Order: sequence, then C-alpha cells, then structure tokens
Amino acid sequence: MPKYIYLFTELDDVEARTGGDHEAVRGLLGGKGANLADMTRLGVPVPHGFTATTEACNAYLSAGGELPEGLWEQALEAVAVLEEQTGKGFGDPSAPLLVSCRSGAKFSMPGMMDTVLNIGMNDLTAEAMAASAGDGRFAFDLYRRLLHMYGTVVLNIEDDAFERELEDRKRTAGVSVDAELGGDDWRDICERYKAVVRTFSGREFPPDPREQLRTATEAVFRSWNGKRAVDYRTASGIPHDLGTAVNVQTMVFGNLDSSSATGVCMSRNGTTGEPGLEGDYLENAQGEDVVAGTRRTEPLSGLAERSPELYTELEDIARRLERHHRNMQDLEFTIEAGKLWVLQTRDGKRTAEAEVRIAVDMADEGLISRREALERVSAAQVDVFLHPKFDPRAIGSREPLAEGLAVSPGAAVGQVVFDADRAERAGSAERPVVLVRPDTKPDDVHGMLAAVGIVTSRGGRTSHAALVARQFGRPAVVGVSSMEIDLVGRELRVGDAVVREGDWISVDGTRGLLYEGEIPTVVADLDNPYLARLLSWADDVRRIGVRANADYPRDAERARSHGAEGIGLCRTEHMFFETDRLPIVQRMIMATESHEREAAVMELLPLQRSDFEGLFRVMDGLPVIIRLIDPPLHEFLPAASQLTADLADLKLRLQHLQTLPEIDRALEEIATKQRYLERARALHEDNPMLGTRGVRLGILIPELVRMQVRAIFEAACGCARDGVDVHPEIMIPLVTHVQELREMRGALEEEGRRVMDETGVDVPYRFGTMIEIPRAALTADEIAEVAEFFSFGTNDLTQTTFGISRDDAEQGFLVEYLRRGVLPSNPFETLDEDGVGRLMEWAVGEGRRARPELEMGICGEHGGDPASIGLCHTLGLDYVSCSPFRVPIARLAAAHAALADRAADAEVEPEPVAARA
Ligand code: PEP
Ligand code: MG
Repeated sequence: MPKYIYLFTELDDVEARTGGDHEAVRGLLGGKGANLADMTRLGVPVPHGFTATTEACNAYLSAGGELPEGLWEQALEAVAVLEEQTGKGFGDPSAPLLVSCRSGAKFSMPGMMDTVLNIGMNDLTAEAMAASAGDGRFAFDLYRRLLHMYGTVVLNIEDDAFERELEDRKRTAGVSVDAELGGDDWRDICERYKAVVRTFSGREFPPDPREQLRTATEAVFRSWNGKRAVDYRTASGIPHDLGTAVNVQTMVFGNLDSSSATGVCMSRNGTTGEPGLEGDYLENAQGEDVVAGTRRTEPLSGLAERSPELYTELEDIARRLERHHRNMQDLEFTIEAGKLWVLQTRDGKRTAEAEVRIAVDMADEGLISRREALERVSAAQVDVFLHPKFDPRAIGSREPLAEGLAVSPGAAVGQVVFDADRAERAGSAERPVVLVRPDTKPDDVHGMLAAVGIVTSRGGRTSHAALVARQFGRPAVVGVSSMEIDLVGRELRVGDAVVREGDWISVDGTRGLLYEGEIPTVVADLDNPYLARLLSWADDVRRIGVRANADYPRDAERARSHGAEGIGLCRTEHMFFETDRLPIVQRMIMATESHEREAAVMELLPLQRSDFEGLFRVMDGLPVIIRLIDPPLHEFLPAASQLTADLADLKLRLQHLQTLPEIDRALEEIATKQRYLERARALHEDNPMLGTRGVRLGILIPELVRMQVRAIFEAACGCARDGVDVHPEIMIPLVTHVQELREMRGALEEEGRRVMDETGVDVPYRFGTMIEIPRAALTADEIAEVAEFFSFGTNDLTQTTFGISRDDAEQGFLVEYLRRGVLPSNPFETLDEDGVGRLMEWAVGEGRRARPELEMGICGEHGGDPASIGLCHTLGLDYVSCSPFRVPIARLAAAHAALADRAADAEVEPEPVAARA
C-alpha cells in the first residue's frame, strides 16, 4: 500500500522515495507541503503537521470520490503523532488540538482552492476554552469560522446564508464591525450557523474532529476540479492531472493574548536591498488583520525593543532560510503566547535597486557565485534602475492623457513648449520644459537639449526625436497619434482635453505615457557602488565589446564613465546643425560655383577638427568611429512649407514699408528665400531615406567628405602630437556596391595620407563601411576587400530588408501588426533574427572569409537591446554600440549572452567566474 501521508518531519523519506529530486518532492507534497517539510528539517519552528500527497488526491478523484485504502488509517496515525507532539488532543476539552486543512498544489494557485481552519472545535471544546479564558469571544469566534468554512467548503452552502446571520446579529447588537461583538454574540452566531448547516444540508454539523478532518480533506481534494481552479490552470498552463496535496497543520494564534502577535518579515530590505530584517507586525492579531490593513501595523524594530530574544530568533531563522534558499526570503510568522512560529517562507519581491544590491552582497557573502549574481539581475532591471521614474504612490490610479511609443526611458516633468527656440530660451533648472512637436528635425536639437522631455505626435523608434532623445538621455514618447498639435494656437488636444503652452505635463518615457500636471519623481543613483561592482563582474565574463554612439565630447565622457570601450558611431551631420554652422552648411548647399562651395566647406574644417579633437581626447586609447555625412541635404535647409509661408509674409510686409532702404532689404530677403525655396524643392525627395544620402552624397560632393576626412586626420595628428593615443576609424555610410567604396576610399585615404605627411605625424587608422543595405550584406566578401571594418547599421538594414519606412511604420501598420501578432516583436527594437539576422550572419561569414581580421560591430539602435545583443554575441561580432545611457545595460546583457553560451557549452559550474576575481 503506498504511503499517502507524510509528517512534516518525514522529508528524508519523501526524498528517498523520489530519488532526492526537489521537483519530484514538490510534485508529491505540493509546493507548500515541500516548503513546510523543508523548514521543519532546517529546525525552523513550524507548527506541527502532515501532508496528504497529490497521489492520494488523484487516487481519490479517479475512484470517483473514494478515499484510497489505507489513507485514512495513515492520517489517524499522523493525528496521534500531532497529539503527542503538541500535548493536546483532538476533541479534548482541557487542551483541544485545532488544525487547518489546506490545499497545496505543485504550482502556486493562490486562492483557487479551498481551506478549512479550526478543525477540532465543537460545542464542548468551545465552552471549555471560553470557561478557561473567562470570556467566550475568542473561542466562539474560532468555532463560528469553522462552521462557516465547513458549511461552504464541505457542504457547498452559499456564503450568503452565513453572512445574513452575522449581519442580523450585528444589527441586533447595534454594532457595525465584527470586532465589537462579544462572547455571547459569537455563541449565538454559532447556534445560528449550526441551524444554517442543518437547514441547507439536511445534516448536523459533525462534532467529531476526526470526522471534520476526513470530510474537509475530501472537500479540498475535490476543489482541485472546482471551476475556479480548472479555469486558472487552463489560463496559466498548469497541467490538470497533477492533483493537489492537502496540508494538515496545528493552528497557532497570534490573537490568543497580549503576548501573541503576527507579522511578515523580509530577510533584507526589499526597497534598498540593505541587510537586516524589514517587516511589520501586529500584537494580539491574526494574519488577516495585517493584510486587511484595518489596524496600523508596527515596524519590526518594535519587536526588537519589546522582545529582543524573539527578534533575535527571527533574525536567526531568516538568515538560515536565506542560506538554504540562497535568496532573500519573505516570511510569515506568528507568536503564540510568547512562542515564535514560522508559517511560510518564499523568495521576496524587491525593487531593481534591491535586486542589484542583494545579488552583490550575497556574492560577497559567499551565498551565491558571481555568475549567479549576474544572472539574477536582468538587463531590464538595470534599465529601470538608471532612469528617474514617477513615484508610484503619486501616480496612483491617475489616468494617462495619452499613450505613444516609449522610445527613451525615464520620467520628465515640465511646462509644454511647442518649438525648439522657445525651449532653448525658456528651459532652465527652475523652469523645466517639455518640447512637444509633430516631429523633430536636426535643427530642433538645441531645443531638445534644453528640454527635460520630448513628445512627438508622429515618428517611430528610429525617428529623429527618438534617436536624439536616447542619445542624450531625455525621456521621450513619440508617435502619440491621438494628440493633435496646433502650433499656431500653441496648444495640444487629446479628445476634449486641451494643454496650452506653459501648462505642466509629465512624460513617462519608460511606459510611453503622458499625464497632465506635475507628478513627483524618484531619482536614480547612477553612481550606485553595487551596480558598479556587478557591471565590473559583467565585464570579466562578456566576450563582446561595448561602445557608444556619441557625437559630442560630453556624451563621449558620459559613455566612458558608464564603461564604453570606444565610440561605435559619431554621426557627424549632427554637428552641422549647431547654430554657428548651419548657415555655412546652407551656403555650401546653395553654392552654384565650385569655388563658393569650396570656401564654405573650408570654413567648416576648423569647426569639425575641434569636434573630433574633443572626441579623441576623451577616448584616449580607444577606437573612435567617425561616420561621414549621411542625411539628404534638404534636411539642412528650412522646410519648403516654411519658406513659402515666410515669402508670403515678406511680400505682405513689403506693401507697408516706407523707406527705400527698408524696401531694398526686404527685396533682398525675398530673393534669398526664393532661391532657398527653389533649391529645397529641387532637393526634395519623396522617400529621402532611400535617396541622395550616405555614400551617394560623398560621390556627388567629394569636397565635403574630403574636408571631413582632413578634419579627422588633422585632429588625430594634433592629438597624437600631444601624446593622446588616437584610433580613428573612418566610416562610409549606406554603401550598396563595392565600387562606391573603392572610389571613396581611394580619394579619402589619399587626403588622410596628405595630412599625415604635412604634419609629419603618423596615426593608426582604418577605413570601413556600414552594412545597412541588403546588397551590401550579400556582397560582403567583395566589400571586405576594400573595408577594414563593418558596422551593421541595423536601423537602415531593418528598413531596407523589410521594405518598410522606419519613420512611418511604427505609427502606421506596424502597430496593428504587433497587436495582431503578425510580427512577434517590433523589428526596429529587437533584431529580426530570421531575416535581418540571417543577412548579418551571411555578411559576417563572407566578410571574415575575405578578410579574417575584419572588425565587426553594430551601431543601429538594436545595439542597446538585450535580446539583440544576445544575437550579436552569437553572430560573433566584436562589439555593440549604443547610446551612452544604455552602456551599462549592454554590458550586463553581453555578460548574460556569454554565460548562456558557457552553460550550453559545458554546463560549466558557477565557480570559475567567482574564482577569477
Ligand atoms: C543605422 O542605420 O542603423 C544607423 C546607425 O544609421 P542612422 O540611424 O543614422 O541611419
Ligand atoms: Mg543608417
């Protein structure tokens, strides 16, 4: 006959039967039963009890509701042991043994199955307990709970039947809450409940505790197939044939007297991760009082003062459980008449900050290996960690004003402004502003920098607004399509809500939400020493390098302080948009004669040189990839619509001008604007992302890129002369055909050599290209013959592989695609492994075949996405490059990829990582 019943003290027997496998133990005893037996074996004071196995449940259910042979006899033996252990007796009026009977499946199914408490109460024991306490309140309250639970769970009587009686008695007694009822009230309620049982079930409530226990156990077995439980299992994918175990456990009461209490306790602080107990308790109360929040709980420090020995015992238990589970624990405890009991332990919930600190501390304490510490912290947690967020208490149930794409995480609060110039003028620490635009353009950057947050109604994950916001760490929400912006009326509308310029809004860039008004934020601690240590361990294990996309020295500095190992992408055109440079760039574009163009280009030279010098100095000793100009030229000119409006305005003003000089000036301005308009129209392209940009510009305007290369080499040689260790890498964007690269490289390298000859300084350098067009990926072998490095521009590569416009897709059909599951994830956020990933794999293989020492990395936005970093690791890239703010996330994600590899390789033991440092 199988053994159906195991005392909490018999874990060794269970293990012997299941071969010691913990999963199998949980399968047989259920999660709760296994946990209680486990604690018992550790010497933790757990109220005595036993478990009826899931096997017993399945036997009962498959026999159509018959207890399997031998089960009940085994249960009675276990009850006898409980009586011995507790010195109490089932039904013994002088010392009544009371037990609970609870379900406990292998997987937690909170509240889905049934429980009966206080089994063992009957008229005799209740009267005896009341007499010895001198008051019936406690005893009859216990008794009525049993009657109520037994009635509903075992006899299927509707809850209402009991509730009505209770309410009626309260009305008669003239009280509104249960706690005001006295002993006689409860005694009367028990009588009423017994009558309810009789009326609704046609039987008497069984006074025999053994009978109570047997029928309750059967009812809990049956509750495995209750509708709630079945639905829950279906929804959460838990198999239906596991069955539930039943735990029978001695009741302990935190509300027995004034030396009793109940509480919850975490073994470390769940908010900060600091060592030391954290929790709340209530004297003379039951667990439900703590949960219900009807009485104010006290912090555990109160227990330390009042009962230091109990506190020390609890501390010791928490430490033991932590060591055993190798994780922070969340305990439920009860003190009954000065004796501490632990009812439950589980891994505690915690904030991202606490997760990091606990992982690092536990590794230092030798509780876990460094590898486990790394594995426990997710990249998403580091992301949360690094950004300010809204105080959850302040958000409460507030409804967001609108929703869009969360493209740059963090929380920002400021006054709305609708144009970049105003943002720059108005934005200050005292008066933070949020820039709200239909979309942004490179010449809005000054305003974006002045703003604390950015919101656009159009655009996707790789829109200009999103790129810049991420690069500069400004929280941003883009593609807020429900928002109408009235730039003339200076207001935005979402449905009936109107937000005017100067009104406050709160931007949640982590979740893509906007709120009206000011919501307080909680600030992140970037210098957190625990995070720094964890990331240094990540650096020890990761194989793939981490660089940053940075255009300015200040970003490069930030990137380096976050651990970047070089610059993977400097988008030089961003510098062209600075206020002192844009007019020169425009002059270059407008030039009709080559000498005019040459003059404008040479005016830019010293400016670019100083930009690059700054980068080289900050990145002393590290590689710096500088990409030659990429965007289509019309982006540098005012928009045609703006020019048309300006012209109309000027012509109108002309009619009111009085003096000749005024008229002359206006005419001149009209002529200039007219020329701009013609040029802007000539340069206009319907899909500029696929038009005259990238290397195509270099081929059409060679003097511009030659100047850029000169600036790079002059800066590099100058810095090298000052002792800076420079490693410039010149990158040519949007190459489709090797011939483009051949032409460019030849001319450009010549210019570089010329500068080195002029300065008499030689610097190490590389020429390379972006792989961002499928044809380039497919012909990677040819391209690698000319390029010394590849950088996968996965923003464009995704756009061109999918044949969808990166600017339009994310607010158009892509949203619907994701909602309907046509695509598993946003390919602009996480690399599309099967398509784009395959092109990359091909390019990596072909590239390395043609040039084994070819350096390869990624600089699209995917370079900061943990899943994509995993793929880049697998593809064997040398580095990922991402925005400075994502560098820490990338370091951790790269370590996770390396660890996953090792686990797959050889099931390597955790130790080597810890042992290395
Ligand atoms: C890319 O296409 O992935 C890239 C980094 O270049 P950009 O986003 O500037 O086109
Ligand atoms: Mg690109």
